[in-house]
Amino acid sequence: MTKRFSFSLNATDGKARTGVISTPRGDIRTPAFMPVGTAATVKAMMPESVAATGADILLGNTYHLMLRPTAERIDRLGGLHKFMNWDKPILTDSGGFQVMSLADLRKLTEKGVTFKSHIDGSKHELTPERSMEIQRLLGSDIVMCFDECPALPADRTRINESMQLSMRWAARSREAFGDRPGHALFGIQQGGLEEDLRAESAQALRDIEFDGYAVGGLAVGEGQEAMFSVLDFAPDQLPTDKPRYLMGVGKPDDIVGAVKRGIDMMDCVLPSRSGRTGQVFTRRGVLNIKNARHMDDPRPLDEQCTCPACSNYSRAYLHHVFRAQEMISGMLLTWHNLHYFQEIMQGMRDAIAVGAFGAWEADFHAQRALGDIAPL
Ligand SMILES: [Zn+2]
Repeated sequence: MTKRFSFSLNATDGKARTGVISTPRGDIRTPAFMPVGTAATVKAMMPESVAATGADILLGNTYHLMLRPTAERIDRLGGLHKFMNWDKPILTDSGGFQVMSLADLRKLTEKGVTFKSHIDGSKHELTPERSMEIQRLLGSDIVMCFDECPALPADRTRINESMQLSMRWAARSREAFGDRPGHALFGIQQGGLEEDLRAESAQALRDIEFDGYAVGGLAVGEGQEAMFSVLDFAPDQLPTDKPRYLMGVGKPDDIVGAVKRGIDMMDCVLPSRSGRTGQVFTRRGVLNIKNARHMDDPRPLDEQCTCPACSNYSRAYLHHVFRAQEMISGMLLTWHNLHYFQEIMQGMRDAIAVGAFGAWEADFHAQRALGDIAPL
C-alpha cells in the first residue's frame, strides 16, 4: 500500500514550529528550505551534493519544464526524479507566477492564461487543469494550485479580483488533481497585504481542503516590513495541522522571521543564484568574493563552516577562480550558500525542539551584526 502524505508537528516555541512531512519518497524535516532546481537542475550542483547540504526536498519550475524539454518528454523518460537523478521529494510550482514574470504576450481569462514562450516565441496555454496535468506528468510529490498573483503595490480592487479568481482556480485545481495517494496538493492563499482578504482566501481554501497551504503573493517587491506584517496574521488564518509554505523567500533574515511567525517551508533561488554572482552568505552577513580585499586572504569564507568550499579553499582561491570565471567558482560558492541556508534550518529545528528559539534568534542577529571578519 502506498504510504500517505502526512504532516506531524513535533514541537512549537511561540509561533515557530518543527515537525516532519512524510511522503513515499522520504521525510521532509520542517522548517524546511527548498533549493530551486529550475530546469531539472540546481545550477552548478550535482544532485548528491544538494542532498549533502541537508536538503530533503527541491523545487522544480513547471513553466520552464513545460517549455523545455516538455512535461510529456520527461514523463516518457520516467518522470522528473529519474530524469534529474533526485530520488527525494520534489515540489513543483504551478507555472502561474513565472508566466506572469517571464512570458511574452500574456492574456488572462477566466479559463487560464495564454502566452508566448520566452525561449522560442511558441504559443502555450496554462489553465488549472493543464497545470495539474503537467505536474502529474513530472511526477511531483507536492503539487501547487494554479493561481494568479498581481505584483505589489496593487489597489484593493485588483487584489480582490485576483484573489477571487485564484480561489475559483483552486477549486478547479482540486477537482483536476483528483485522488492521488502519496501525492499532495497545496492551496495558495492570496489577498495582498489586506488582512480581511487574506482571511476570506484562507476560508475558501479550507472549505476546499488541501494537504498543505501556501502563503502566496509575497516576496514580490513589498519589502520585508510589509511581508512580516502580513505574516503576523496570515499563517494563523491557515490550519495548524497542515504544512504552511511561504513561496519565494528569501534572505536568511527573511527566513528566520518567517519561521518565527509560523511558516514551515520556504524556497528561493537566492543561495544558488548568488553563488554564481560571487555573493556569499555567512553567519556574519553577506560578503562579495570579487572584492580585492580577499585577493591575498588565506582564510576560509567562514571558519566554522564545514562545507567543501570552506574546508578546502581560501578566500584568495575563491576570489581568483571567480575573477578568472572558472566554473568551480559557481560550484563552490553555491555549495557554501546552500550549506549555510540548511545550517540555519537545522539550527532553528534544534532550537524549536528544546524551546530555545528566542535565544537562537538573538544569537543569529548578534553574529550578523558583527559583519564580515576584518581584512588582514
Ligand atoms: Zn562554507
